[in-house]
Amino acid sequence: MTTPTPAGAPGCIAASCTNPATVQWKRRTDPGHVVAVFSCDNHAISLDAAAHVHATTCAAPGPTGCTCTPEPIQPSTPAQATPPNLPPGWVTPATSPTGAA
Ligand SMILES: [Zn+2]
Ligand SMILES: [Zn+2]
Repeated sequence: MTTPTPAGAPGCIAASCTNPATVQWKRRTDPGHVVAVFSCDNHAISLDAAAHVHATTCAAPGPTGCTCTPEPIQPSTPAQATPPNLPPGWVTPATSPTGAA
C-alpha cells in the first residue's frame, strides 16, 4: 500500500481533480471565520484574486473560476504608529539594557 501524496499535503479541492495543491487562498464561511482553499495550477485563480477573502458561495476552484466579489483587502495597520506627543520628561527608550550585572 503506497500513498502517492505525503500525509498532510492538501490536494486540489476542485471536483474530480486529483492534482496536488500548489496555491491556496481564503474563503469566508462565517463572520470572523475563514477557511483555506487549496487548488492546483489548473484550477488556480489569479494571484490578485487569491490575495482576497472570497465568499462562501465562490465556485473557485472550478471550471468557472471565481464567481464571487472578493472582500476588499484590509489595510494593514503599522505595528509602530506615530507616537503621540509625549509630555516633557517622557521619552521613549530605544533600548533598556537593564538586568545586566
Ligand atoms: Zn485542480
Ligand atoms: Zn471568489
